[in-house]
Amino acid sequence: MALEGVPSSWANMKVLDQSGARIERSIAELRHLFRQDAQATRRRDARPGLWIAVVIYWLFSFTDLLLVPDVAFQTIQARLAVGVAALAVLEIQLRLQAETKWIDVTCAAAIVFGYLGWLWPTMTSAHTESASYYMVFGTIFMMSANLFFTFDIKFSIVTSTFILSVLFIVNYYFPSPDTYKLVFANFYVSCFAFTSYVNWKLNKERYNVFLNALEAATQHKEATERGHALLRLSRTDPLTGLENRRAIDEKLRQYWNDWHNSGHRFAAMLIDVDFFKGFNDFYGHQDGDRCLVIVASALADLVKQHNGSIGRYGGEEFIVLSRLPDDEQTMALADAIRATVEGLALPHDQRKDGTPVVTVSVGVGVTREHSGAKLERIIHEADRALYLAKASGRNCVWLFDPCDPQSSDERENIAALLKIAISQSLVSLVYQPIQNIASGRIEAAEALMRLKMLDGTPIPPNVFIPVAEQTGAILKLGRWAIKTVCTELLAHDHLAVVSVNVSPIQLKAPGFAASVAAILAETGVSGSRLAFEITEGLEMEIHSDVLRCIADLRRLGIRIWLDDFGTGFAGLSWLRLIEFDLVKIDRSFLHDCGSPKGKMMLQDIISLIRNRGHSILIEGVETNEQKTFARELGIDMVQGFDIGRPVPAAEFLSRWTACERIFPIAKRA
Ligand code: C2E
Ligand code: MG
Ligand code: MG
Repeated sequence: MALEGVPSSWANMKVLDQSGARIERSIAELRHLFRQDAQATRRRDARPGLWIAVVIYWLFSFTDLLLVPDVAFQTIQARLAVGVAALAVLEIQLRLQAETKWIDVTCAAAIVFGYLGWLWPTMTSAHTESASYYMVFGTIFMMSANLFFTFDIKFSIVTSTFILSVLFIVNYYFPSPDTYKLVFANFYVSCFAFTSYVNWKLNKERYNVFLNALEAATQHKEATERGHALLRLSRTDPLTGLENRRAIDEKLRQYWNDWHNSGHRFAAMLIDVDFFKGFNDFYGHQDGDRCLVIVASALADLVKQHNGSIGRYGGEEFIVLSRLPDDEQTMALADAIRATVEGLALPHDQRKDGTPVVTVSVGVGVTREHSGAKLERIIHEADRALYLAKASGRNCVWLFDPCDPQSSDERENIAALLKIAISQSLVSLVYQPIQNIASGRIEAAEALMRLKMLDGTPIPPNVFIPVAEQTGAILKLGRWAIKTVCTELLAHDHLAVVSVNVSPIQLKAPGFAASVAAILAETGVSGSRLAFEITEGLEMEIHSDVLRCIADLRRLGIRIWLDDFGTGFAGLSWLRLIEFDLVKIDRSFLHDCGSPKGKMMLQDIISLIRNRGHSILIEGVETNEQKTFARELGIDMVQGFDIGRPVPAAEFLSRWTACERIFPIAKRA
């Protein structure tokens, strides 16, 4: 059903309710809404409207004095009484928050009583002619009811009809000619008809304006809501519902500014799901997504308890930002994150490390004095720490330590340097003599790698070798070292054997033995003049590939030495599995010999190696006493600063040219 005079589209309309939902409103409801809205307007306009009306009503006192002076005293009294009473009642009503309909009644009563208060005395005036004209002003009261006060249409018609009726009665009884009565009756009715019509039109127009405004407000609110929803969407990760990278980057900036301005320390934690690619490949992407959602929601719950922020940073990577006062509490939260995911016990059968459930590695960066002005730095540091957490076996937590060369920025520089080390001649070898303790002759040398920066600053091997191993640069550098040893030292026949340190990475790399064979063939050096030092270490499982490689190297005549014996955990099983030509005992054992316990320990190690039939070399001989002691212990070879420091090839050759050629240095069982 269409509303009369209103476009049919208004018949029923969708508007927003208080909660913001768009709901359909019936005509009756829309009318009700309109009335409510109109009431509010009337309430607002009542005070100024009545004041204006009363003041004008009072000003007509002058007309009273001019037209009906004999009754002016009464009319003015009536004017004052009605005006003051109406204003007083209205003020009281407004103060008491009276309903709008009672305010309307007051205004209507003011019109009616104002009309009667003026008309009654005027009718009794002796100036009948003036009074008869003056009565025409009664239509002003009718206009007030219909047009001036925006009453509800029915209410204004009732009020104006009352005024019309009184006018009719007065017109009828007032002593005036019939023509006059007829003309004025017509005039009153026309006035009533016109003002009522205009009133009705205005009401309809107001209703239309109200509906238009309602629709405009609805559309505006909807557009705003849509805008907010879009904004929310653009900041949310669709899979997990966490904040996405853009949103969390903004948060990071807030945390950072807060730290700069108020000194609130915070931690950034990068969390990576371990072996997630394997999970996805095996269980499928749907399960992969489900896994991420479960992990995300568990972490979100945990982080909420710590007043932190969490976001999805990338594929299987999450980020947590939290204000924590010290490293201890920071690590406690990081470990809680790790433990939470492990505690979910989501099965993961495809891990390479044998753990049967989904776990995460956590890298933590914290704000420090030296964090500098760039906020990316904290993420960079968290990323470094995450890398190290992954490298140290996963399912663990790592805090970035600026003093640790492995995690510092230096690592990046070194990695870059290693790429150009050979072409730019930044890498070189130095040789440290190895002495046969019985004969006192230098029978061998150990080749040790040196690296310098472009400005010539040296970088210690314990800093650059791990980087070379992690980046794989060790493969190229290792081949270069073997070739350099062959060309710069073994090409001359001054020295029997030169040992080269070989990283486990090289032994695991396919084709390593073949590349060594190619170098030997190219340089014409016999394999028996080379020894490879292998360090026992945690990271080096005795893999079948390694054993096969060692066997291949042996076939080339290359000697295999065990380096730094006693520092790792796997030494004994190594001794059992591999036929070493020589075992180098780590210098720490010799240096611990100051105490009887240390001495006994060294003696035990020596008898153990000897029982296996290997030759023994002790490293780190720094004094003559240590050398004497080594001799007493029946050690075969010694190496250390007392015998000679590592020096470049030319210096080594000039210093040790008197060396005799002695083969072989290693006794085999
Ligand atoms: P390493 O193979 O055990 O080498 C012996 C280290 O002990 C050398 O340190 C040497 O300078 C030092 N040294 C020798 N005599 C003494 C002594 O009397 N007292 C003390 N305090 N130290 C002594 P460097 O050159 O710093 O090398 C450190 C480690 O770096 C080596 O330990 C080795 O594991 C590794 N490295 C060096 N060059 C290479 C290489 O070409 N390839 C690989 N994979 N690793 C290498
Ligand atoms: Mg060595
Ligand atoms: Mg060593």
